[in-house]
Amino acid sequence: MTERFSFSLAATDGKARTGTIRTPRGEIRTPAFMPVGTAATVKAMLPESVAATGADILLGNTYHLMLRPGAERVARLGGLHRFMNWDRPILTDSGGFQVMSLAGLRKLTEEGVTFTSHIDGSKHELTPERSMEIQRLLGSDIVMCFDECPALPADAAAVEASMQLSMRWAERSKIAFGDRPGHALLGIQQGGVTRELRAESAEALKAIGFDGYAVGGLAVGEGQEAMFGVLDYAPDMLPEDRPRYLMGVGKPDDIVGAVKRGIDMMDCVLPSRSGRTGQAFTRRGVVNIKNARHADDPRPLDEACGCPACQGYSRAYLHHVFRAGEMISGMLLTWHNLRYYQDLMAAMRAAIAAGTFAEFETTFHADRAEGDIPPL
Ligand SMILES: [Zn+2]
Repeated sequence: MTERFSFSLAATDGKARTGTIRTPRGEIRTPAFMPVGTAATVKAMLPESVAATGADILLGNTYHLMLRPGAERVARLGGLHRFMNWDRPILTDSGGFQVMSLAGLRKLTEEGVTFTSHIDGSKHELTPERSMEIQRLLGSDIVMCFDECPALPADAAAVEASMQLSMRWAERSKIAFGDRPGHALLGIQQGGVTRELRAESAEALKAIGFDGYAVGGLAVGEGQEAMFGVLDYAPDMLPEDRPRYLMGVGKPDDIVGAVKRGIDMMDCVLPSRSGRTGQAFTRRGVVNIKNARHADDPRPLDEACGCPACQGYSRAYLHHVFRAGEMISGMLLTWHNLRYYQDLMAAMRAAIAAGTFAEFETTFHADRAEGDIPPL
């Protein structure tokens, strides 16, 4: 067990990379997918079940936790790991993105953002300094800089001004974070879909110096083609010897395309959220368990999957409990989806190590193109 945060690459295949992030709370195999535990829980899952899917790390949301139950309260109760009974690494976001997407009555200044809570209308302030304090109180292992993310499309001048503000906030975040051995601070590259701004942002972040770097400001409605267009060059601007994190991505094909372009870490609510709405991700694409075709189908959701939903239950049962509104429906489908995502990451790590990522990618797309197994 290491006492420091470190990252080492084990193999590359094209731009795709596999390696290990080491933290005092355990190792994170990359490329890594982080399930989202918004309110100190990955919805419908026990923490040991999240670990059993193969997750090495999960993500907590600063915005949600600062409002409820409050960062100071979590700290008094022993920190987020103890509070939610998850002893592996946790990454927390800075709160900035969710203030922009969820909070009411926002006011943005050089100092930070004031806003009202979407829960009870109470007034709050987030600054780079307060975001660092909250993430320290939570006990986060991987801390994100406080940044501003404009919704796309935005005009070039607005994207540039926002990026430059985020770089000033990145410097304040670094100073406020201080020297915390065993914990990491990641800078966030901004600049929208403009190559020059992405380069300027990368240079500003490298001058400050971070333990890792995120590609921010994507997956905000620009579409996959535009996102891949930025990922064709943006990760290359960041240091090779530090982990690269693509925030808020994504669908399985987004994830494969991002790893192909040199991304090491990702997070998304999609597998857990879809699990609660009857959508399952499989090797052969998305299955809507609510469809009538499953009502008499004794076969598993995905016979190649080792999760409890596929090992112990039929499509007919999963269809029934979804239609009946039973809680086990969300539990089983969330477990399956998280296991599917972790199996996907494991397959990519193995392919990169073996130098067969191109073959992996061909099979991945061919299996999906085949579509779901024919109805009985
Ligand atoms: Zn399964």
